[in-house]
Amino acid sequence: MCGILGIIGHDDIAGTLLEGMTAIQHRGQDAAGIVTFNHRFHLHKADGLVGQAFKKVDLARFSGKIGLGHVRYATQGSTDVLDAQPTVVMYPFGLAMVHNGNVVNFRQLKQSLCEDRHRLLDTSNDVALILYALAAALETKNLQNLTPDDIFDSVRTVQEQVQGAYSALTIIAGHGLLAFADPHGIRPLVLGRKYTDRGMVYAFASETDCFDYLGFETVRDLQPGEAVLIDGDGQVHSRICRAEKQAFCIFEYIYFAREDSVIQGRLVATERVRIGRQLAEQVKKAGLQPDLVIDVPSSAYFFASGMAEALGVPYRRGLAKNNHVGRSFIVPTQARREQIVRQKLNPLKDVVRGKKVAVVDDSIVRGTTSKHIVKLLRESGAVEIYFVSAAPPIVCPCIYGIDMSVKREIIAAHYDPKQIAHYLEADAVIYQSLADLRALYRDLPCCYACFSGEYPTGASEELLKQIEQEKECSTRN
Ligand code: SF4
Repeated sequence: MCGILGIIGHDDIAGTLLEGMTAIQHRGQDAAGIVTFNHRFHLHKADGLVGQAFKKVDLARFSGKIGLGHVRYATQGSTDVLDAQPTVVMYPFGLAMVHNGNVVNFRQLKQSLCEDRHRLLDTSNDVALILYALAAALETKNLQNLTPDDIFDSVRTVQEQVQGAYSALTIIAGHGLLAFADPHGIRPLVLGRKYTDRGMVYAFASETDCFDYLGFETVRDLQPGEAVLIDGDGQVHSRICRAEKQAFCIFEYIYFAREDSVIQGRLVATERVRIGRQLAEQVKKAGLQPDLVIDVPSSAYFFASGMAEALGVPYRRGLAKNNHVGRSFIVPTQARREQIVRQKLNPLKDVVRGKKVAVVDDSIVRGTTSKHIVKLLRESGAVEIYFVSAAPPIVCPCIYGIDMSVKREIIAAHYDPKQIAHYLEADAVIYQSLADLRALYRDLPCCYACFSGEYPTGASEELLKQIEQEKECSTRN
C-alpha cells in the first residue's frame, strides 16, 4: 500500500503536491518523492515522512504544470531510497511513474522486460517493471504522432502482461498525465478537478481526503481496467482497456483509507460504523455482555461506536494515543512494531477499572499489538477483556501490496479464536463473520483473499511461496 497523487494544469505544482501528500501520508511513511516536468524532469525522493524528505529541498527548482507525488510503504523491494518512487525512464521518450499496489509476476516480468532485452534494472521496486512494460508497448507505436488510442492500446498490453494490483500514474512527456487501474480495480484511484481563473486543474489520487485539502472536487473513481488521459490541452480521454470482475480491496474500508475519504462513492467512516453494527451480532452470538466498548485508536473508533450503539452499551475512549508515534502496522520489523505500541497507547484507568471491556480493533494480524493491549487493560483493572476484530480472521497472505505476505506471521492462519484468546490472555476473541461482511458489500464486488484464499488474479502455492521468500529477503536486506 502506498499513496499516489498526480496533478496537471497547476503552476505551483511542487507545493501543491507536497500539501496533498501529507493528507495521504497514512498510506506510507517509508519514503516520499515528487517529479515535475517542464522540458525535463525534476525529481527528488528521500526516506521518511513528506516533511522530513523535503525539509532542505528548494521547491523553486520543480517547475512545470504536471507532476506526481508518492508516499511509500515498502512491500516490494528494500526500504532503500533507490527503491522509492517516482521512477523515470527516457525511452522511447520521457516517462515518469508512481504506483500503488504489488506486481505478483515480478520475477517473470523482470526476465522478459529487462534481462532478455539487456536492460539494467537498478531498483527492486515493481513500479520500474510497469514503467518498462508501458515504455516497450509505446515503442511499437508511431511516436511522431502518438494518439490517445495508441496510449490506451499500450495500457492494455501492460494489463495483459502485468499481474497483480496496481493503480498507476504516468507523466508522458509532451502528451499529458495518464492514470490506469489493474483489470480488477483492487487499489483505489480517484479523479478530481478544480476550476481556476487560468483554467481547469485535474488530479488523480489514492484517496479523496487530499482533494479536500487542496480544494478539488471529486469527479469519480476509476473503473477496473480503466485508463484516463488528461492531455496537454486539458482534454479528458478515457477507455476501459482490459477489465475483469471487480475485486476492490475490502481492507481499504477496514484499515487503510482515512475515515474522511470517499471511496467507491462511500464515506469510509460510515462504512466502519456499518461494519461495527454488524460486528455486534457476533458479540451477541457469543453470549457476551460487556459493560462498555472501547476502541484501539484511531482506525477502530467508528467500528467501536457502531458496535456499542447496536449492543446498547456505552462507548468510551479507553486508550489514549500518542499521535506523534507512527502506525505500528506499517513499519517493517517486528521489534520496531512492539516498541511503537509501547510508546503509543496508554489506558485510561478510571474508565476501564472494574469493567467488562470489549476492546475493538480493525483486525488481528500477528497478535503482538493485541496481546500488549490486553496486558495494559488488565494491569489497569479491567475484570474481563473481550478482544473484538472488525475484520474476519486473516488466514492467507495478501499478495497485493499489504504487509501480510508471510503466512507464518499471521496468527489466525495457525490458531482458532479460542487458542488466540489464550495467547492474548483475553477472556474471549470475537471476529467479524466473513459471510456477514460479504453480505454488507453485496453491491460492491470486493477482494476477500486474505480471509478466504480466493485470489482474484489466481495464485498457485508456488507463487505464494515465491512472494513470501521475496518479502523475507527484502526485510532482511
Ligand atoms: Fe485487500 Fe486482503 Fe485482498 Fe490484500 S488480500 S487486496 S488486504 S482484501
